Order: sequence, then C-alpha cells, then structure tokens
Amino acid sequence: MATYDLAYWRDLQSRLTPPTGAFINGQVVQASSGETLTSYNPATHEAITEVAACGKEDVDAAVAAARRSFEEGEWSQAAPAHRKVVLQRLSALMMEHQDELALLETLDTGKPISDAHGLDIPGAAGCFAWYAEATDKLYGEVAPTDRNNLATVTREAVGVVAAVIPWNFPIDITAWKLAPALAAGNSVILKPAEQSPLTGLRLAALAKEAGVPDGVFNVVPGHGHVAGQALGMHPDVDCLTFTGSTATGKRFLEYSSASNMKQVWLECGGKSPNLVFADCDLKAAAIAAVQGIYFNQGEVCSANSRILVQREIRDAFVEHFVAEASKLKVGDPLDPDTQIGSLIDRQHAKRVRDYIQVGIDEGATLALGSAPLKDADDAFVSPTLFNHVTPNMTIAREEIFGPVAALIEFTDEEEAVAIANDSIYGLAASVWTRDLSRAHHVSRRLRAGTVSVNTVDAIDFATPFGGYKQSGFGRDLSLHALDKFTQLKTVWVRL
Ligand code: NAD
Repeated sequence: MATYDLAYWRDLQSRLTPPTGAFINGQVVQASSGETLTSYNPATHEAITEVAACGKEDVDAAVAAARRSFEEGEWSQAAPAHRKVVLQRLSALMMEHQDELALLETLDTGKPISDAHGLDIPGAAGCFAWYAEATDKLYGEVAPTDRNNLATVTREAVGVVAAVIPWNFPIDITAWKLAPALAAGNSVILKPAEQSPLTGLRLAALAKEAGVPDGVFNVVPGHGHVAGQALGMHPDVDCLTFTGSTATGKRFLEYSSASNMKQVWLECGGKSPNLVFADCDLKAAAIAAVQGIYFNQGEVCSANSRILVQREIRDAFVEHFVAEASKLKVGDPLDPDTQIGSLIDRQHAKRVRDYIQVGIDEGATLALGSAPLKDADDAFVSPTLFNHVTPNMTIAREEIFGPVAALIEFTDEEEAVAIANDSIYGLAASVWTRDLSRAHHVSRRLRAGTVSVNTVDAIDFATPFGGYKQSGFGRDLSLHALDKFTQLKTVWVRL
C-alpha cells in the first residue's frame, strides 16, 4: 500500500508519460495539421505536455469512425450483458490506474490530489459501474391496444453522440456523459476542454483495453471554436451533450439549427443560493456552507455562491463560517494536506480577482480574504466571503466560478425565496431549517434542478442532475440520463 505523501506524488510525476495524441478509431493520432496545444500545470505554470489540437478534418475522421462502428453494430447491437461486462471492466481498470489518473487530473487542473484521488477518480469509475449495471435492465413497453393489434415501444441508441465538456471535473463529467451513452449502445466523440485533455485521453486507451471496439469511443482534444464548433455543426452527429458556460451552450443551439437539427442537451452555469433560516442548526449550516462554496476552489457549476442568511443569525453565521473557512489549507495541489489548490489558469484567476475588486467597488465588505494585489499573476485565489451584499450587486448576479461567496441578508421566507429565484440560473439550491413544513414549502418554490435540505450540493448516481432556466436542460446521472441517449421506437403490428 503506497504512502500517499508529497514525495510519493512527486516520484510518480517524475515517471509519468502523459498522453499526447488524439484518439480516433482506436488509434493514437496527431492532428492532421500537426498543430498542438500545450497542457500546463496551473499551479506552477510549467508545461506538462503537448496535445494534438484537432481541426475539422480530425473531427470528420472521428465522426466517420463513430458512424462506421455504430452501423457495423459490434457495440450498438451487442447483447446488453456484453456491454455491461466491458463497462465493468473499464470501471475496474480505472481503479487499477487510480493513482496515475488522479495525478494527471491534478497536474492538468490544479485541484487537490486528495480530491482527485479520493473523489474524482472513484466517482468516475463508480459512474461506469452504475451504468454498466443498468445496461441489461432496461425494458421496453407494450402499449395498451385492442386485441387485434400489438404495439411495442422500445428504446434505441441515438447513434453518434458528441460530448463537449469543461475543465472543472474533466473525468467525472466525461463519465457522466460517456457511461450512459455507451451503455445504451451509442458511439461517442469526446471533446475535452483545452485546459484539461489528459484524463479523457488516458480513459480512451483504458476503454480499448477493456474491450470497447475501435471507433466507439473517440477523443478529439482541441480549441472550442475549432473542434467544438466542428462537432456542433457536423451533419452526421445525432446528439450533442454539453457541459460548460451558458454562453457556449447557446452557441450549440445555434450550431444545431444551422446544421442538422441534432439533439442538444445543455448543462450550463449557475449561481446557486444557500438559504439559511434562523431555526436551523447554525454551526452545521456554516460548516457545510464552507464546503458548499469552496470545494474544488469554487469551480463548481452548482457551488452555493449566494449565501442567504436570516437577519437575526447573520453575525453568528459569519463568525462560524469564517472560523471554519480559515482552517482550509491553500497550497500545492500535490500535497495531500492541501484542500484548496490552484484555479484552472492564471487568466481565470485574474477574472476571479477582478470580480473581488468589483465587489469591493460596489460596496460589499470582505469578511474573509483580501483585496487583490495589483501584481498578482499566479493561479491561486484564497477563500473569500463578502458580507453586506445586496441582490443587485454584480457579485450576487454573475457566475464567478471561483472561491468567492456573497452573503445576502433576508428577513422572512417570502423574501428569501424571492431573492433565491431572482437569477437567470436555476441549477441547485440548499435550505437549512429544522421546520419540516418550511423545508418542503421552500423546496417546492425554488426554481432549481436539485434542492438540498440540511446539506449542500447533494449528488448521487441515482438522482438526476441538471438545471432550470439558463442552467440548461436535460439531466445527467440516474436512469433519466438514458433518455438523452436513446430514442423511442414504436412498432405497431396489426394481428
Ligand atoms: P466553456 O463554455 O468555456 O467551455 C466548455 C467546453 O466548450 C470546452 O470544451 C470548450 O472548448 C468548448 N467551447 C468553448 N467555446 C466554444 C465554441 N465557440 N464552440 C464550441 N465549443 C466551445 O466553459 P468552461 O469555462 O470550460 O467551464 C466553466 C463553465 O461550465 C461554468 O459556466 C460552469 O458553470 C459550467 N459547468 C456546468 C456544469 C453543469 O453540470 N451544469 C458542470 C460543470 C461546469
């Protein structure tokens, strides 16, 4: 059993060979243009490797491979029990390579190694295992007809699925898309974010080893406006599943309407509220609120970035929150004691610092964290809490996607719900109260895909995850995710 200390990870890093090519039709290939993207370690800004930057020709090749494999049927027409065994094998292989995958994920994104190793990799492997189990338990229906007819309703794979994903949970979000899509028999092309292509590429090689046939799982790393757009516009992609910003999500709707009307499913941004009522377990709420915003450096689409606190407990809440958040260890992502690593890159860190400055300029007060230094140019931002925020301030309205929380005071339930729902987003919400009726009433009134009561950001393979309003539509996770990757076929037989 390895001792997972800093020395272990540094040693593993010194022996690591990161993937470099695209993965098309079961082969590692370079971009046909020869272009590459540099993958950086955001914590040090050192180059990790060069990765193929795929263009339209490479995307065409990947889509052609996916289409061929789908039509040939080795995967799409295989017995569901066969797909189950292969996906289970893939899940097991991921856990065999847990250390390597965790290290690639941390080097590529700056997230703490303890999270990558303890949460992201087991989470992604578990997702494949969960959908593997579902594969041979999906039944069709027989519709009610009179006795002279028989109508069956079955689910068929959609065909060629493209998955375009962001950088905050690269391997987890890949698994959320890929596992149900493959379980249902589709062929898939993955376009990872330009900042974080490494684990997706490694996963493709493991999938081949597990027995996923060539062409069924392809990876085309590259720029969004090149490889991402080429997938969005491709006439032979049947379904496009996207996770990322709301602005990019809207583009995919345009690409679809300008091309072949492919199905588009969007998981986009958020500005999730955490409602803390005076009758709650205050200390528990404050401790959880710290996790709710600062986990993964706040680079979480469902981060509880608006903390709504009832007036009479505001000061006590801030005290508990600050005490808890001050314990968080910010630092080298490879140090197993680190709880807050670096943001995804220096550019994003600058964007987050700019928001902190805007918060100060608009009159909110810093209860935790400090005003940005003028010459700061690394990718680290410490946990920040703004007090005295009003609902119209920029930091209360826009998604910051970093470790910055905005605390807004409310007087009663009515006002809390109104503030919570006053957002273009509707991904998640949390409610803290000991009053069971209030918990249910408020949960019903919140316009969000997931409401967590007396916890934050509840998520499970068994429950659907996705947004209301401009947080998108369609759901990841649970059996409902299969709706995106299957279509219903009616066969009506006149007897
Ligand atoms: P992004 O929208 O910039 O990029 C996401 C993906 O889209 C990347 O692969 C990128 O290369 C691609 N892309 C970018 N521009 C494109 C274009 N013009 N055409 C085609 N593809 C393009 O988002 P990001 O900065 O990588 O991720 C952060 C965002 O993701 C946040 O808004 C966050 O809330 C959201 N997110 C949502 C969820 C969810 O489940 N709802 C989960 C995680 C992240």
